[in-house]
Formats: sequence, C-alpha cells, structure tokens
Amino acid sequence: MSQKNVCFIGAGNMTRSIVSGLVKSGYSPKHITAANPSQPKLDALQQDFGINITNDNIEAAKSADVIVLGVKPHLMALVGEQLSDLDLSNKLIITIAAGVTAKRYSDYFKQEIKLIRTMPNTPTQIGVGLTGLFAGDDISAEDKTLCETLMATGGEVFWVNKEEELNQVIALAGSSPAYFFLFLEAMVESAVKSGMAEVSAREMAQQAALGAALMVKQNPDLSLTQLRNNVTSKGGTTAQAIATFEQGNIRGLVDDAMTNCIARAQEMA
Ligand code: NAP
Repeated sequence: MSQKNVCFIGAGNMTRSIVSGLVKSGYSPKHITAANPSQPKLDALQQDFGINITNDNIEAAKSADVIVLGVKPHLMALVGEQLSDLDLSNKLIITIAAGVTAKRYSDYFKQEIKLIRTMPNTPTQIGVGLTGLFAGDDISAEDKTLCETLMATGGEVFWVNKEEELNQVIALAGSSPAYFFLFLEAMVESAVKSGMAEVSAREMAQQAALGAALMVKQNPDLSLTQLRNNVTSKGGTTAQAIATFEQGNIRGLVDDAMTNCIARAQEMA
C-alpha cells in the first residue's frame, strides 16, 4: 500500500479500532496522526501504536492526504468550521459518523470536498470488523480504492450503492456487536444464577458464540434455519430453549430493535 499521510480527527473508540487495524496490518505509524482535545486517549494511542498525536485539528489536517473524521455526529459541524479555512481539494475525507448525510459535509466545511461515508464496527480493532462504504459519483476509482484499502485493514468492506443503505449497515453490523454482547451477558447471568462461576460461564458462552459464527461462515450453502435445525433434535433440550425464545417473540423483538436503530440513524441525518 502506498503510505499516504492519514490523520484522525477525534481519538475515541472507533479511531482506536481503525488505528489498531492499520498498524497491525503493517501501515507505518509515522504516517498516522491523531488529533483530540484531551490528552489521555492520545497518549494511549502513541504508547500503544507509536503514532503522531496533537491537540490541534488544523495542524493534523494540514499535512494529511486523508482525513478521517472520528468525532460524534453532533460535533461534525464544529470540526467542519475549524477546518474550513484549509484548502481541502486534494485531500480525501473519510467520515465514520453515523447518520450525517454526505451533502451536509460540504456545508460544514464551506467548500466542495471529496467525501466517502463509512460505517465501521468495533471488531475492526481485531481485524474481523465490517465496514460499509458509500461514495458519490464524484469520487474517483483511485480514492475509492485508497479508502477501501485503509478500511480493509480492519476486516471486510462492503460498498453500498445508495447512501440510505448505510443505515441498514448500522443496524446489521455497526451496532450489532452490542446485540451479541447483550445476548452473551444474559446467558452468563442465567448460568451464574444457577450456580456456575462467572469466568467459566463466560468462557463457555464466548466459545459457543465463536463456534456458531464460524459454522455460519464456513457453511455458506447451508441456510441459517438448516444450521439451527441441525442442532435441534425434536423434543430435546435445544428444542425446549428455542421454543421458549419463539414464545417470547424474539424475532419481533429483533425486528423492533433494528427498525428503531435505523429510525434513530435517520433522525440523526
Ligand atoms: P468517542 O469514543 O466518544 O470518540 C469521539 C472522540 O472525539 C473523543 O475522543 C473526543 O474527545 C473527540 N472530540 C470531541 N470533540 C472534538 C473536536 N472538536 N475535535 C477533535 N476531537 C474531538 O466516540 P466513538 O464511539 O469513537 O464514535 C466516533 C464516531 O464513530 C461517531 O461519529 C460514531 O457515530 C461513529 N461510529 C461509532 C461506532 C461504534 O461502534 N462506536 C460504529 C460506527 C461508527 P474527548 O473525549 O477528549 O472529548
């Protein structure tokens, strides 16, 4: 990969995930800078990955070929205002913010910018993430490849054709690690309630989750229903558990959760 200078505006959880993926994949930390108002997260990034750090967004952006916007959506207007005096015409801007639509960025930055919207998830930090990507017609194939190469250091990438589809990526991949954590929490709580040590319960639940995910991935020809049926003997223990989930309308609950997740992303736009 050609080593462009990449700066991150905002040094929070997602920036840490992406920086971690980049450095672990061999991207030189000398070409990575993170800017953040408070110091502790910057110090941790420098200590863990050897990247450059600064409290000054403008200084970070000036020497960057690629600017990754890693602040919360409500701060995007402020960051745009801060950087609006720079000539950004030759820089690729990648945003990871949920919700904020592409057309609003040109207003925030007070100029036409080359923007790619992305939606990564936190497993990016261990190389098994998924990032949804959207670029308008104005973005060159070269910039798309550059963005894809950077984001693919954290796992798989998936281009969507319409910007609205990024909201589905949020519901399916951006937010969903938290759904699985919640499910694991509930399983561990139940096991602990019935007398198992928490550490053992967690180990078993995590290994089962990993195994289930790998079985899905390694058996693309089997439907999810088939995979479930393969471990569900009629009248057996798994059947009892599955029936309990179905009686509790787990599908309706998941549908409501994902629909509300998408609605929230639309509200933030
Ligand atoms: P976060 O941990 O709160 O990080 C945001 C960082 O921005 C903080 O370190 C904050 O610094 C910094 N910041 C605040 N004001 C700033 C400014 N004016 N200039 C530069 N930095 C500033 O949030 P996050 O979870 O990483 O989320 C960041 C973005 O990723 C959001 O837009 C979110 O929608 C998107 N995203 C998140 C996920 C996820 O799973 N978390 C997934 C996909 C996309 P201080 O702490 O010092 O205030």
